Amino acid sequence: MNDAKNTGTAKPSSEVSADPKDHADQESTDQLTVQNPVTRYPEITPPEQDQPEPGLDAELEPRSDRGQKSYRGTGRLEGRKALVTGGDSGIGAAVAIAFAREGADVALNYLPAEEEDAQWVKSVIEESTEQSVHLIPGDLADRAFCEQLPDAAVKALGSLDILVNNAGKQISIDSLEDLTDEQLTTTFDVNIIAMFRITKAALKHLKPGASIINSTSIQAYNPSPNLLDYASTKAAINNFTKGLGQQLAPKGIRVNAVAPGPIWTPLQVSDGQPKEDLPEFGKQTPLGRAGQPAELAPAYVFLASAESSYVIGETLNVNGGTPTP
Ligand code: NAD
Ligand code: MG
Repeated sequence: MNDAKNTGTAKPSSEVSADPKDHADQESTDQLTVQNPVTRYPEITPPEQDQPEPGLDAELEPRSDRGQKSYRGTGRLEGRKALVTGGDSGIGAAVAIAFAREGADVALNYLPAEEEDAQWVKSVIEESTEQSVHLIPGDLADRAFCEQLPDAAVKALGSLDILVNNAGKQISIDSLEDLTDEQLTTTFDVNIIAMFRITKAALKHLKPGASIINSTSIQAYNPSPNLLDYASTKAAINNFTKGLGQQLAPKGIRVNAVAPGPIWTPLQVSDGQPKEDLPEFGKQTPLGRAGQPAELAPAYVFLASAESSYVIGETLNVNGGTPTP
């Protein structure tokens, strides 16, 4: 990568830590380079692996592209302040890196057990931009934590313009009879109840021009039989997005969602999928491969930036070509 990648706020990308296992290291292009999407990334052939929940990007094999080398900012979020939940890893990490490269300061929420991943994102941003990164660990299953998270973000950032409700819990269970009440309620708490609580607490900070972006999933429309609880929350997120979008539009606050397809993140190897399915992960899409977190980030940047001013209540599908309703 050359040095001109990351706008006026950027430092040379040669200062970004090299990791020999990074999927991204095989690439010498950025998101604005025209490429064949079929071959943009090599096929993932994951070795057998098993991580406890929450999984870590630090342990994921092969490593994903979170834009650490490949995302080039073009000044689309200059001066904006963003809170990203699940900002330590996977899609949230790619969003945080992209937002900072676009000129935003970011606050990241994640579970305390994910500190290593959060520190990695912080160091990538600090080494490649002049933006500030603030870490706010805490459990979104905890009502009181959700209610004070936006205040903590504003305390760190000074204000809040962009809220990305991205955290998610996904545990594969084959049979409804084996779905424990604890898993059922925690999945709903983290994926959708927390989204209500955090968004409600954030509203007093959001001014006209603000943007709320919720991570939903292709599971909202095409539920897998082993993800009943998770897929149900994702359908709820789409619905919440369309309803709240209408409620907040007159205030100049836009609400949208991004619906990823199969993306190579730690969620999938920490019991998000049956282990035996991982070698085939993403190969059923029309593109024939799983997506990388860096391929999601531009969708979030678009919905966060002023250029999507007339886009409200929309779910942007980023799924490798699978048709959705
Ligand atoms: P990920 O594991 O990297 O990110 C999920 C994050 O959720 C974790 O990093 C963690 O910080 C956060 N989280 C989980 N439980 C939490 C809790 N109790 N308190 C606070 N934070 C908690 O995986 P990802 O795939 O990048 O997931 C990001 C979002 O994308 C999720 O909402 C997920 O449902 C959605 N998504 C992912 C895929 C995919 O294939 N990876 C597909 C569709 C949707
Ligand atoms: Mg994580």
